[in-house]
Amino acid sequence: MMAVLGFITMDWLDVVDILIVAVLLYQLYNLIKGTAAINIFFGILLFYLLWLFVKALNMQLLATILGQFIGVGAIALIIVFQQEIRRFLLMVGSRGLFNRENYRSFSGFSSSQYGNLHYEAIVSACQRMALQKCGALIVIARRSDLKYYINTGERLDAEITASILESIFFKNNPLHDGAVVISDNRIKAAKCVMPLTENTIFPIQLGLRHRAAVGISELSDAIAIAVSEQSGEISLARNGALKTNITPKQLGEVLAEEFDN
Ligand code: ATP
Ligand code: MG
Repeated sequence: MMAVLGFITMDWLDVVDILIVAVLLYQLYNLIKGTAAINIFFGILLFYLLWLFVKALNMQLLATILGQFIGVGAIALIIVFQQEIRRFLLMVGSRGLFNRENYRSFSGFSSSQYGNLHYEAIVSACQRMALQKCGALIVIARRSDLKYYINTGERLDAEITASILESIFFKNNPLHDGAVVISDNRIKAAKCVMPLTENTIFPIQLGLRHRAAVGISELSDAIAIAVSEQSGEISLARNGALKTNITPKQLGEVLAEEFDN
């Protein structure tokens, strides 16, 4: 097969080449969307486009300087995206690029229901767990689907109801340790391990549960709700900031604001 578009000749290998690059770029975008890394990604993309532009205009000096940056950039990229590259390779190795879910989102028929969350159940579960001083950590995914973190726990895929959430965090339940991850309006997994924040000015009375809540909200656009078993307080982490001791009503308001539209 050989198509000729004016002066551009293209054989089928080029088509395959372009398709593979498109799939890889899309997978990369999927991995980092909703995380802080996405801004870096766009920053680098902009920089690269600027370099191409400058080169096309034949501005030698600027092109050389930018070219030097791009040269070092490959190494910088590996350092900055270390976590994402690891996740990407993990995904390629363990699940393949072409599983059905990935394909569905690639073709635009994504089942994502971000914006539609049955949050009343979450609020009433938190309210009751707070009263009973039952510790809990609930992470609600938004654009970033948190697949990597879901895989650290046990898969559930259950409907969101207050009693299911309370049962999971009930002491002595084998699933109570760790975080529940909610995504696409489903309880996707329990017992998940969240990244801890490395923030050094963290309140001394707050332990790992709260550090995990803030940690995941720093690394992604997820919202994390912690119920403390020590104080029975509800806290909410968003964009790396923790609001402690909020009432169930306030929790409901924040969730409504974030997920009702
Ligand atoms: P609490 O006020 O409820 O005691 P805390 O902030 O003091 O919360 P810890 O007592 O250190 O937290 O830990 C309580 C629970 O938090 C642990 O038993 C565990 O279930 C959960 N937890 C700790 N670290 C993580 C983590 N990285 N990811 C998910 N859950 C975690
Ligand atoms: Mg504690």
